[in-house]
Amino acid sequence: MKIEVIGCGSAFSKISNTSSLLVTDNTGNQLLIDCGPTVPRALYNRSTSVNEIGAIYFTHIHPDHCTGLTALFNYWKSHHRTEPVTIFCQEENKSPLQFLALFANWPAKELCFEVHWQMITDHFVWNHWQLETAETQHELTNRALRISADGQQLFYSGDGRPTQASIDLMQHTDLAFQECASFDALDETSSHGDFYACKALLEKSNIKRLGLYHCWDEAIAEIKQSAATIEYLFVSHDGLTIDLSE
Ligand SMILES: [Zn+2]
Ligand SMILES: [Zn+2]
Repeated sequence: MKIEVIGCGSAFSKISNTSSLLVTDNTGNQLLIDCGPTVPRALYNRSTSVNEIGAIYFTHIHPDHCTGLTALFNYWKSHHRTEPVTIFCQEENKSPLQFLALFANWPAKELCFEVHWQMITDHFVWNHWQLETAETQHELTNRALRISADGQQLFYSGDGRPTQASIDLMQHTDLAFQECASFDALDETSSHGDFYACKALLEKSNIKRLGLYHCWDEAIAEIKQSAATIEYLFVSHDGLTIDLSE
């Protein structure tokens, strides 16, 4: 399983793309996780075929995680995509996402490729992948994702503070990405992760590597400095590629 960080930034980052991962399995199946406003351009820059991404998973629909869908679909339409795409989302997020998709070819109602909408459940399957989800503590309902494929395990938190359910979901993964907006400790009722909570999370779990992302720009320097002293902990960056098969 190959993981490419398309973006690791918070909603209004001036440094990084909005947060998104591209996950590719050993047979070439590609899933994009989240698609915020700066993600389409990052994908155009990769100069790969418009047919390669087979599915998009939305953790939640804050604008920094979904509003790139219109531009991405418009790009795929303009470059004559032919392959169907599957959208995985929460039931209550389907209709706003469908509007973003429809707007990609406004005022026409159809695109030149099929869009299959599939609702997220606790556990579902895509190709030979096992996908499991759990809610984090966030302003909007956010579902963290665990992918098991080719004998490898990846966890991606989406936004929000860890919950017992999301902590359980990240156990025994080869690589986990956890949202860490703040360096300073935030209140337990907060909607975002912080460095001290992430550090504690790593200490009491059996994750092989923990990547912090979605950091507020002003917190990045302190988070990087402190993370550098802790084994198995790193701060994500745009363009980072990790191949779990290596
Ligand atoms: Zn966000
Ligand atoms: Zn959010």
